[in-house]
Amino acid sequence: MEAVILKERENQIYIKGEKPFNIVCDKDSLAGAVSQRACVFCGSRVVLYPIADALHLVHGPIGCAVYTWDIRGALSSGPELHRLSFSTDLQEMDVIFGGEKKLRQALLELIDRHNPKAAFVYSTCIVGIIGDDLEAICRQVEREKGIPVIPVKSEGFKGNKRAGYKAACDAMFRLIGTGGTSNISKFSLNILGDFNLAGEIWMIREYYERMGIEVVANITGDGRVDDIRRAHGAALNVVQCSGSTMQLANMMEEQYGVPSMRVSYFGVEDMSEALYDIARFFKKKFPGDREADAIMERTMALVQEEVRNLMPGLEKYRKALAGKKAAIYVGGSFKAFSLVKAFRLVDMQVVLVGSQTGTEEDYRELEAITDPGTIIVDDSNPLELTSFLKEKGVDIFVGGVKERPIAYKLGIGFCDHNHERKEVLAGFEGMLNFAREVYSSVMSPVWRFVPRAKSME
Ligand code: SF4
Repeated sequence: MEAVILKERENQIYIKGEKPFNIVCDKDSLAGAVSQRACVFCGSRVVLYPIADALHLVHGPIGCAVYTWDIRGALSSGPELHRLSFSTDLQEMDVIFGGEKKLRQALLELIDRHNPKAAFVYSTCIVGIIGDDLEAICRQVEREKGIPVIPVKSEGFKGNKRAGYKAACDAMFRLIGTGGTSNISKFSLNILGDFNLAGEIWMIREYYERMGIEVVANITGDGRVDDIRRAHGAALNVVQCSGSTMQLANMMEEQYGVPSMRVSYFGVEDMSEALYDIARFFKKKFPGDREADAIMERTMALVQEEVRNLMPGLEKYRKALAGKKAAIYVGGSFKAFSLVKAFRLVDMQVVLVGSQTGTEEDYRELEAITDPGTIIVDDSNPLELTSFLKEKGVDIFVGGVKERPIAYKLGIGFCDHNHERKEVLAGFEGMLNFAREVYSSVMSPVWRFVPRAKSME
C-alpha cells in the first residue's frame, strides 16, 4: 500500500484476515485528512429536506444554502416547496449586530408567500458563534402564524454528520404526536430512511399495499407534515438508513411504544427479507389473526412473482460481470451490506468497502460478509481511496457525488448510489437496474480511450 495513510488514521482501516478484527470509528474526522464527510448542518438538511410541503430556511451565509440546495433529488408526488432553497443570507453587519431581526422578517414573509404546513429553521456555523436565539424567534413566529416553526440545532462545527442526523431527528420529533391517529389500521407502518431519490418510495409503498399494509408516513422521502404529525399511530417503524433515522425510531419507541425494525431495500436478498420480516412481525403481534396470515401469504406470492420476473434478465449481466472487482464507499454502512450482497449476486468481488458514519457493530457485520483481503475503511479521504482503488485494480466504484471525480480521474467506472441518481436502484426492479448500470459502466468501450491501465500501474 502506498504511504498515503496518516499515522493517526491507521486504526480506522482494517484488512480482512490480516489480524483479529479491530477498527476505530464514530469519532470526529482528523484535521488535515480532508474527510469525505459533510458538516452537521448538511447531515440535518438531507434528512429533513424531503418533507415537501414544509418551508426550509437556512439561517446563515448564502454558501451554506447553496452547498445543500437540491442536494438529493428527493422526488415529490405533490408540493415541491422543499426544492426552493431559502436563506437569510447573513452578511458582515448581521454577524456584528445579530441576525434575529432578519430571520424573523424572512420567516414572516416566506410563510405569507408560500403558505407552508410547517417551517424548519437551520442553524449554521456562524449562528452558533454569534448566538442568535433561534428557539425564541421560532416560538414567536409560530404563535403569530399558527404553524409549527421548528429550530434545527445544526451548527456545522459542533460534531460530524451524525450530529446533524440527530438534530434532524430532534426537530422531526417535535412534529410527531401532534396529529390525530383515528382510522389507522392495526396493520400499518412508517417508512424511515428512504429519501425517494428516484421514486423508490413509491415502489416500496406499492409492495406494502400489495401485502395489505397501510403506510402512515414516508418520514424521509416524499414526506408530508400532516402524515408525520400522526406517525405515532403506526404499528411499526421500518428503518432503512439506520444511521440517519434510528434515533427518531428509538425516541418514538420510548415515548409512544412504536417498535422499529431495520431493513434494507437494496438487492434481492435484503428486499425479500425486509418484506418477510414485516409480515412475520404482524403474525407474531396478532397470533391467529386471519388478516396477519393473509399478509404473509400475499408477501410470499409477491416475492415469488418479483424474483421470477427478475432472474432471467439478471443472468446476462452475471455472465459478463463475473470476476470483476468493485469498491464501495457510502454514507451509511447499512447500504454497504446490501451492496456487498448485490455484487455477489452477479458474481463480482468487493475488494474495498467503507462508509462515512459506520459504527463498530456495522463494520463487524461487514467483516463477516466480505472476502479475505477486503479493505474496510471508516471516514476515508480522496488520497486513501485513490490509493486503495489503484492497489486493488477496481473495475467499478460505487459512491456518491464526492466519490465520482476520484473514479473518473483514475479511468474507473462509477455508479452513483446516492445524491444524483435518477434511476431506481431499490426493490426487485432496482436490482435489475443496478446490474444493468454496473454492466454498462464496466463494459463500456470508453475505457479503451482513457489511460486506465497506466494509472493503475
Ligand atoms: S454550516 Fe458551517 S461547515 Fe456547514 S456549510 Fe455552513 S459554514 Fe460550512
